[in-house]
Order: sequence, then structure tokens, then C-alpha cells
Amino acid sequence: MVHCPECEKTFEDASDVEFLDMDSTSGFFTAAKRFYLVACGNCGAAIGSGVAGAM
Ligand SMILES: [Zn+2]
Repeated sequence: MVHCPECEKTFEDASDVEFLDMDSTSGFFTAAKRFYLVACGNCGAAIGSGVAGAM
């Protein structure tokens, strides 16, 4: 599994991370795409991100 680079917490399931929807705050992306930042649920460090295209 993935480990947090900051606090080394092991992410065992989806509840250990936070999926932050950046669409309403970034302003860089069009409505066709939604940008997600994945953050550690323990210390809040950003550990990854992704873009989900609108279906
Ligand atoms: Zn962490």
C-alpha cells in the first residue's frame, strides 16, 4: 500500500486519505474536467492528484 511521505502512515483504505475536489477553488480547469487532490487523512500532506474527465 501507499505510505504518507510526511508521517509514514499506511493508507489501508479510502478513509485514510482525503479526496479534495479542487474544481471550485482552482479556477484553472474548465467545467469539463474535475481536479482532485489526494491528501493524507492523518497529517494533511498532499500525496497525489488526478484529473477526472466528465462523463
Ligand atoms: Zn501523513
